[in-house]
Amino acid sequence: MTAIRIDGKAMAEQVRADVATGVAELKATHGVTPGLAVVLVGEDPASEVYVRNKIKQTEACGMTSFHHVLSKDTTRESLLRLIRSLNEDPEVHGILVQLPLPGHLDAKDVIESIDPAKDVDGFHTANVGELWTEGQPFVPCTPLGCLKLLKSVCPDIAGKHAVVIGRSNIVGRPMAALLLNESATVTIAHSKTDDLPGLCRQADILVAAVGRPQMVKADWIKPGAVVLDVGINRIEDDAGQSKLVGDVDFDAALSVAGAVTPVPGGPGPMTIACLLANTLEAAKRSVA
Ligand code: NDP
Repeated sequence: MTAIRIDGKAMAEQVRADVATGVAELKATHGVTPGLAVVLVGEDPASEVYVRNKIKQTEACGMTSFHHVLSKDTTRESLLRLIRSLNEDPEVHGILVQLPLPGHLDAKDVIESIDPAKDVDGFHTANVGELWTEGQPFVPCTPLGCLKLLKSVCPDIAGKHAVVIGRSNIVGRPMAALLLNESATVTIAHSKTDDLPGLCRQADILVAAVGRPQMVKADWIKPGAVVLDVGINRIEDDAGQSKLVGDVDFDAALSVAGAVTPVPGGPGPMTIACLLANTLEAAKRSVA
């Protein structure tokens, strides 16, 4: 069997095109331009790259981007003051505080200060609660992107056994909630799980969100399963060149799985596309 290679790059392009159409419609019908404020504290090089990409893609979709860079020594008070002003700004529909934050700032405390109606990352406990009670949440962007990728090859999720490896607030837990809301039977695995390979072999849908390069081997995968690889790990190849790999041994998985996402080019590109979709949704809700 050769698995379908799920193309996250192509699907992200489609999501961005749909967002651009939605933005144009909102401007035409309500005179509202969706605005996304991105707050970066400190000079983490990886965060700077993510933020640049977010700004570029926000503007390419016709939205307004507000960019706030604060020094790494910024106090809690001045960060919360900025967030309060963004909460009150009618031109800002989505607020994203780039994580990780410097050690003296508590991410939970900062996220809880964002108006849940502008929390397009879906990390505020109000949105987490909405997600777990089948309400109207903003869903964290990476799991939301994974669900769209999954549905492209597996439209009928109900009754399938989904195993999610990883229980972080950003990926594993919200992914499990989304799958449960689609009526999958969900198992969440983590570092204390016994016989992880045996558990994974029972999965019709396997999501790896661990951060361990190529941990999931071919013989962990049930033949025909859909495998979503969220992991982003930098390793050195045999020639000493640095390259990105996921949490799944992709080449080996191709011979067993029914469909599998590559890294790069899987859930990664979908994450920013879903952030834009969430920002458009926040702007639409503001005029509803
Ligand atoms: P975290 O480090 O927050 O969580 C990792 C999870 O994996 C934890 O729940 C941990 O278990 C579990 N874990 C660690 N080792 C093992 C093991 N040997 N067996 C089973 N479970 C294990 O990571 P994130 O959720 O933030 O990210 C996961 C991966 O996804 C990373 O590679 C990250 O770079 C990537 N990522 C990709 C994104 C994208 O845009 N595509 C966005 C966000 C993340 P425990 O809780 O017991 O410690």
